Parts: sequence; structure tokens; C-alpha cells
Amino acid sequence: MNHKPKPSHVFLYKDFISKPEVRKRYWARNFAGWKLFSSAQPNNVHRFLALWEQKGNISWLVTQNVDRLHHKAGSRNITELHGTSYLVKCLGCSNQFSRNLFQITLRNLNSNFHVESTEIAPDADVHLDPKLAESFNVPSCENCGGILKPDVVFFGENVQKNKVFEIYKKVEESDAVLVLGSSLEVFSGYRFVLTASEQKKCIGIVNIGCKQFNTC
Ligand SMILES: [Zn+2]
Repeated sequence: MNHKPKPSHVFLYKDFISKPEVRKRYWARNFAGWKLFSSAQPNNVHRFLALWEQKGNISWLVTQNVDRLHHKAGSRNITELHGTSYLVKCLGCSNQFSRNLFQITLRNLNSNFHVESTEIAPDADVHLDPKLAESFNVPSCENCGGILKPDVVFFGENVQKNKVFEIYKKVEESDAVLVLGSSLEVFSGYRFVLTASEQKKCIGIVNIGCKQFNTC
């Protein structure tokens, strides 16, 4: 339920917060891919899930995607486990704002930067000549001078605890869990299915490349 994954550079949280050159590289690549990323539209699966929510067949949707396609399709009861690319947050204060607005700021600071990618990873990352990124200007928070980061969980960064507790509660309230399009190889999502299994819930998993099965 996403763009076709392309090779994506792995940005580690510790590198992002400690190395200005990594932040330049991240934001330059994200800037170059934003127009394409933000223009993506939901597919039929996103729309079906929104319809199922309206009909009361789905009480809550948990997504590991950061692309807001479920919101665009009309789903409302959503927890974005790994955050969203559509928000930018300051790591030094509570300042947060729209990624679309940030695109204008970045454009104004980088008027000579004219790269727009036609290939993109699910996190809006694109391939970019490293030399181009070196000259990219990245602003600090205008309130406190802090580091600006997308509201996305990076490698090496923990999912917010309140989200984890919220999802455990939703699992407990549910009579079944349906997993779509996830290998569940990453613990941050797998743990909820494990909990559902321990609570003897019905679990359905639909995935490309493996057989559908049900533990009922
Ligand atoms: Zn700040």
C-alpha cells in the first residue's frame, strides 16, 4: 500500500542529530522528492479500508507508512506508528509545522537548487549526488534555534511510548486483527500481533509472496 520501494539511504537517528552534514543530505534528498511524494494518491486498498471504517468493520487502523495515504482515502481512526512525513518538529522545543510549508522555506533558502526526482522511496527519500547536498541550506527552528526533523521514526529511534500503549489498548478492545502488506519482521509492528495471538484473537495476514493464513 505504498509507492514501489526504491533503494533508500538509511538515516540513523544518532547521525541526524549529531552531524550537520547528515541533516543537509537528508533534507536535500527529501526536498528533491517532496513534490512527487506529496502528490501520491491512495489506491483501492486504502479506499476499501476507509469504506470498512465507515461501515464499522474496522475500529482502528495502525499504519507503519508515513505517507498519509490512509488519511487521503478517508480513514480517520488511525495511529501512525512511525509518524508522518507531513509534519516537521523541532527537537529543542514544541514547535511543529506542516512539511508543505517547510518546502517553501527550503525553496527560498535554496533558490539555486533545481533537482526533482522521478524515483522515490516510501519515506520520500531520493537518490542525489552527494556533492549537491553539501551546498544545501537547512534552517534551524526559528523559535529556539533547535534541530528540525521530520515527525518520522528514524532507525535507532524509539516509537513514542504513548502510541505503543494506545495500540496495545486498541488490540485489547478488538476481536480480531488483520495485517495487510507487512512482513512483520520489524518488532515495532510485530509485538502487537504477538499480543493479539497471546490474547487468542483472530489474526489474518495478507501479504505478497506468502500464503494467507488465519489462526482462528
Ligand atoms: Zn524550537
